[in-house]
Parts: sequence; C-alpha cells; structure tokens
Amino acid sequence: MFARALDVVFPRRCAGCGNGPWPFCSTCASGLIALQPPWCERCGRPWPAPVSVCTDCPPTSIHSARSPFLFEGPARTAVHRLKFSGWRDVAAALADAIVASEPPPPVDVVTWVPLARRRLAERGYDQARALAAVLGRRSGVPVRRLLRRAVSTGPQAQRRGRERREAMRGAFVGTRPAPDRVLLVDDVLTTGATAAACAEALAAAGARRVHLVTAARSFHGPPGGPVRALRGPAPHAYPQAGSRPGLWLPGDPPR
Ligand SMILES: [Zn+2]
Ligand SMILES: [Zn+2]
Repeated sequence: MFARALDVVFPRRCAGCGNGPWPFCSTCASGLIALQPPWCERCGRPWPAPVSVCTDCPPTSIHSARSPFLFEGPARTAVHRLKFSGWRDVAAALADAIVASEPPPPVDVVTWVPLARRRLAERGYDQARALAAVLGRRSGVPVRRLLRRAVSTGPQAQRRGRERREAMRGAFVGTRPAPDRVLLVDDVLTTGATAAACAEALAAAGARRVHLVTAARSFHGPPGGPVRALRGPAPHAYPQAGSRPGLWLPGDPPR
C-alpha cells in the first residue's frame, strides 16, 4: 500500500535514463548488453564457443555464477540508482532480468552479500538484500540472513585480483547454520573476491554448494584482455540485448 502511494508521488521512470517508461525505455533496453551463450558453463562469461571453466571464473568456492547484463550503460545506471539513489523498485526489474536470463538452479535458501554497517546506515537499506527479497518471492524459496561482516576491510576499489581476495578473506562470518544449497545474491560481480569470502563463510556454516547471481558483471583485465574481447569484433557472440529475437527484457510480459 505504502509503496503504491509512493508511486503516485514518484512515478516509476526508466531505470536507465530516468525519463522513459518503466523499467527500461526502448532506447535504454537496446543499450543493455546481455551476457548469454555461448559462454563459460561455470561463470556465464560469454566466449566465442562454450567452455566448462574459464580464466575469468570466480574462485572455486563459488559453484556457479550468472549475471544477465554487462555492467555498462543502462545496466550500470540502474544498479547505481538502486545503490545510491534509493530507487528500490529497480531491484524488481533487475531480479526479473536475472530469472529471465537463466532461472537460478534449485536451492534451499536465498541469501545476500551484506553491506557494511556504516554503509547501511548511510544508505538506509541494503541493495543486495532488496534483490534477494525479490528473487526469493519469485522462486518461492525462503530468504534468510546467513552472513555478517566480520571486520572492516576498507575500500576495495583500488585492490585487484589476488591482493583483493587476500584482503577479503575472513571478512564475513556465518550467522547460523547454512543448508546444502545456497543462492548468494549481490549487485555486481567483478573479481568475485567478496562473493568468494561469503561462499567460504557459508561453506564453514555447512553449505555444500553456493550459486552466485548478480544483476550485472564487470570485467577487469589487461588491455586486450577480457574487456576488449567483450567489446571487440565478434558481435555475434555479444549482441545487444535488444537485437536478439526472443530475449526477455525487463518490462516484457513474463514467459
Ligand atoms: Zn531510458
Ligand atoms: Zn568462467
């Protein structure tokens, strides 16, 4: 009720440009870059031909990973609106995109990468939790807090790869026993260091398989590495979302 009342005051607008119709106007929808097969079976990173694992796979504590979009353009803006501008409704659009791009594997519980307490106080809510709540509702799986931050790890943006992973190790602890199969939710997958630290804490709490889903994925690497591969020629492997017939987009009727 309250959310509807707010809609009247703040009508939902395109999560990309902020002007067009909800959740993505046609211009922004055509700027979304969908991550889709052929890809790495384990982490969902597009490649010219299917592979079972790849050089961009997150650490092995994560059993599988999927993200519907490349963290660029309208997808990046949408995540930023969810994260920094308090557009909580964006969580529903992004969670629907996660489910539509590939339904998550069967799990016993949905949980999320918890925000540091200070950040939570600044923003008022946890964007990964907002995504997890919608994913739980859509799949009928319970959503539970299973993790908390153990230590303040400081800014992560400047750290890369192994260093970042070392810094994150032990950054999360389980808050209760975890069931066998856990769906871990975060907003963006970059190196996987944060998610891996969560997966390790979940394993210590009893989880046997941790599947990761994020709204978007960003690739870092040396020039000519993964980023160029994604942007480069071979558009057949990485088409724009809007150009692929049959690709579900947020806002389309559910299939
Ligand atoms: Zn737009
Ligand atoms: Zn991979």
